[in-house]
Amino acid sequence: MPSYRIPSRERVVGALERVLGRRRTIVSQRELKELLDSEMAQEDGYRVSGPRARRIAYDSGLVNMEIESREGKEVGTPHRCPVCGHRMNRVKNMTIFGGTVTLGHRCRNCPYWSGLKRRVPTRYTFTRKTP
Ligand SMILES: [Zn+2]
Repeated sequence: MPSYRIPSRERVVGALERVLGRRRTIVSQRELKELLDSEMAQEDGYRVSGPRARRIAYDSGLVNMEIESREGKEVGTPHRCPVCGHRMNRVKNMTIFGGTVTLGHRCRNCPYWSGLKRRVPTRYTFTRKTP
């Protein structure tokens, strides 16, 4: 059993709203997690994982998310977005011969995209949507 408690999505969004009341930009997923955890620590020690914090923050619609990534060695794209878990759309281009060629994949939900070599996210930046 973990010694901390798993917060509901509503609780995480509430903590995020309070964090965004003080800050406009959060420079990494780790910083996002730490800010949310310290906000929720004042309410019975709830803790959220980094990836869950990222997904809830993006899905809340309260922030814009930028993804920095590097090109990995692996060829091909996962069926599901590694950032948010939604499905990916194939990005195609017409060829001069009338066929199509796949250039890569783009997430239907978030800004993640990948070329023929898989892109590996390295950093996330979150910026408050309201000024
Ligand atoms: Zn996505």
